[in-house]
Amino acid sequence: MSELTFDAVVVGGGIVGCSAAFFLAREGWKVAVVERDSLACGTSSKSFAWINGTSKTADENYHRLNARGLAAYCELAVEFGEEALGLNPSGTLNVVQKSDAANYAATQEQARQLAAYDYPAAWVDIHALRRMEPHMTLPDDAEALFAMADHCLDAPKFVRFMASQVQALGGTVLEDCAAQSLVAQDDGQVTGLETDQGTLKTRHVVVAAGPGTAEVLSMLTGYDAFATRFPLHQVPGLLVRTPNLLPHRRIRHVVYSSISPEIHMLPDFNGGLKIGSDETDGMVTVDSTPDQLHNVASILLDRAKDLLPGFPDRDCLDECTITLGIRPYPKDGHSLAGPLPGAKGLYVIATHSGITLAPALGGLMTELIATGQTPDMLKPFTLDRIEGF
Ligand SMILES: Cc1cc2nc3c(=O)[nH]c(=O)nc-3n(C[C@H](O)[C@H](O)[C@H](O)COP(=O)(O)OP(=O)(O)OC[C@H]3O[C@@H](n4cnc5c(N)ncnc54)[C@H](O)[C@@H]3O)c2cc1C
Repeated sequence: MSELTFDAVVVGGGIVGCSAAFFLAREGWKVAVVERDSLACGTSSKSFAWINGTSKTADENYHRLNARGLAAYCELAVEFGEEALGLNPSGTLNVVQKSDAANYAATQEQARQLAAYDYPAAWVDIHALRRMEPHMTLPDDAEALFAMADHCLDAPKFVRFMASQVQALGGTVLEDCAAQSLVAQDDGQVTGLETDQGTLKTRHVVVAAGPGTAEVLSMLTGYDAFATRFPLHQVPGLLVRTPNLLPHRRIRHVVYSSISPEIHMLPDFNGGLKIGSDETDGMVTVDSTPDQLHNVASILLDRAKDLLPGFPDRDCLDECTITLGIRPYPKDGHSLAGPLPGAKGLYVIATHSGITLAPALGGLMTELIATGQTPDMLKPFTLDRIEGF
């Protein structure tokens, strides 16, 4: 293996790394993906995996980047088919009650903003809502923002598909292979990557290590300061995945309900539901015990039961899968993607909403690496915006 030479090596076999590798390989580059464990073992397999620009309206550049992610999935679906990619074009219902004045006004403002961005969305009344989600018990003053183009993703399946395409395009995917340090010339130009399986020669290394990005940069470069100064938070999130509930799928869309208590759910790929809540995320930490996670999962199942009377509630907890994922959350909330300032041949992609953004960032980073020019859409997200870096 120490003889192998690549045009680019990607560190991290999650959705972000495998998507970047796919677009590089498609550009004709000889690519390797180095994953220290197995593909999609990290955050990508513990994600709600809702593909959308709907929830990102505050900043236009960031909205458009997310909308580009959604568009990229649609293009991949035309080429490969939804089934191969693990895509469900479910659409999203953002359900709100008119009597909840603050949330109602905020959701209407969100709808106005989406219209201004030409993002496909419409407002639906209670009659339409009851037909769209017949299993849900909804108060008479419930209405919803319907984002019909949103999708949800079987993210591990998509990651494996991207990796298989990298291999089909002549690339290499190395699992159980941990990146350890960079090899560089005196002028700082990267010339290789040392791994626990040997050295890979390359002049381009892309770090896509998710929540571990800061530690990986420290390790690769030998600069401990990255571990404390790289502007990335690790934000835990708990999800419950029920067993197959068929013949009643229970919900058809991604549902974000602000009807108190708040909950979000989507139709999972096993015929069950995937359930989470921003509120219950605040009740878990990376150090939560299994009992604590179990208790929070019970709360989520109770909330689902409130909206879906036929749902088995916490009785099915033992058959559920509870996952605690760690979001790689940049301090200003927006993606970090581009060359590492001061380094030659070292690039980073670290982002929340990485399920939505992976194909957008992968395509844009490929353009940057291949041409040496930063695409306009990527400019607000490069790492030189970080002060004192
Ligand atoms: C609860 C929850 C809900 C979410 N919901 C959504 C959502 O609805 N929509 C959305 O778009 N996003 C969502 N996200 C965010 C999204 O899941 C992440 O942004 C995305 O999965 C990050 O992917 P990644 O490839 O960067 O990281 P990861 O999937 O963590 O991949 C990084 C990989 O790097 C590997 N690695 C680390 N160190 C090394 C090393 N030294 N050598 C080799 N490999 C290494 C790891 O093993 C890992 O496999 C959610 C996240 C969570 C936790």
